[in-house]
Amino acid sequence: MNNFSYIKTNDIGQAVAELSNDSGNKIVAGGTNINDLLKYFVTSAKKLVDINPVIDNHSVIRLDNGGIRIGALLTNAETAYHPIIEQHYPLLSKAILAGASAQIRNMATNGGNLLQRTRCYYFYDINTPCNKREPGSGCSAIKGYNRIHAILGQSDNCIAVFPSDMCVALAALDAVVNITGPEGDRTLEFKTFHRLPGNTPDLDNNLKQGEIITGIDLPEMGFANNYSYLKLRDRASYSFALVSVATGLDLENGIIKNARIALGGVAHKPWRILEAEYFLKDKEPLREHFAAAADIILEGAKGYEHNDFKIDLAKRAIIRNCFMALDPESQRPGAKPSL
Ligand SMILES: Cc1cc2nc3c(=O)[nH]c(=O)nc-3n(C[C@H](O)[C@H](O)[C@H](O)COP(=O)(O)OP(=O)(O)OC[C@H]3O[C@@H](n4cnc5c(N)ncnc54)[C@H](O)[C@@H]3O)c2cc1C
Ligand code: SF4
Repeated sequence: MNNFSYIKTNDIGQAVAELSNDSGNKIVAGGTNINDLLKYFVTSAKKLVDINPVIDNHSVIRLDNGGIRIGALLTNAETAYHPIIEQHYPLLSKAILAGASAQIRNMATNGGNLLQRTRCYYFYDINTPCNKREPGSGCSAIKGYNRIHAILGQSDNCIAVFPSDMCVALAALDAVVNITGPEGDRTLEFKTFHRLPGNTPDLDNNLKQGEIITGIDLPEMGFANNYSYLKLRDRASYSFALVSVATGLDLENGIIKNARIALGGVAHKPWRILEAEYFLKDKEPLREHFAAAADIILEGAKGYEHNDFKIDLAKRAIIRNCFMALDPESQRPGAKPSL
């Protein structure tokens, strides 16, 4: 870890100014990711700007349009157990609680969750080439050990996945990210917040220099009656997703009126294909329809030997999770899905 200075501020304007003045200055919120990156020399900082005292961003508030705004500095645990989230957005609650450990969720903030870096082993090992850490140096994963890597949306420069669970639910729920920065406030729809690697794998998202996330908006529709988050991983707890699926279904008289399906662990951003969701509209919730939607979502998927298994796993996870969404009882811990 390099030497850096540290300040704590309750003034978001000061934090923006600190970031804008010097690209070496960085925000720290819960510290659960940036501290590791500093310790492993994956990143460096001149100054860490601790924004935890900014009180405006620590709550869940209702919006006039029927939706809610979740503060960027609320912890993942506070968010998952918030009564409004549990009641109206249980998909989000379930996804957050599938991530990390209780201790980490108590520290990790919502803003930090959106900005956590990939878990690609080579990214964390500074002795290996990695285009994300050092642009132009090469990608060690493409011909290396790539069990946890991407099967969709990847490029010849990077096949890393974005590891968040929370963000898979936010993608399915059509979240909007609130941002403040040197040029004022703006919003980004969730689908445009994270980036695919393309030729610039060092960029994970579309935040600009000096910008800070202040909150996340969710629309009124929370799919609270028919939802499910399924996370498949090597260990039952405390492990990142190999494949995860967030599903929300809106049913009327046994017919699907609205479907949302987002995948995690398969791409550089939460993966959502609207064509598959349109396909399910006005259809009965039958296996053949869920399987066809899964095929649409996985179209063009490509493995790199060690992660080939993810293609079939993702298809089966989508089908299983759609059935789980039909049966809210299946969300109880230990419950078996009705297939
Ligand atoms: C052992 C372990 C296991 C984990 N398992 C999972 C898992 O299974 N699923 C999962 O989803 N996550 C998992 N995580 C990741 C964890 O969820 C993230 O580390 C956490 O959400 C990051 O939040 P933070 O507040 O600690 O961010 P920090 O570490 O403080 O910051 C992360 C990044 O975001 C920036 N930042 C933070 N807040 C803001 C803001 N408001 N505006 C602009 N920039 C900001 C920082 O500058 C930094 O670049 C795990 C982490 C660990 C250590
Ligand atoms: S997959 Fe991306 S993060 Fe991993 S080594 Fe290749 S360039 Fe680096």
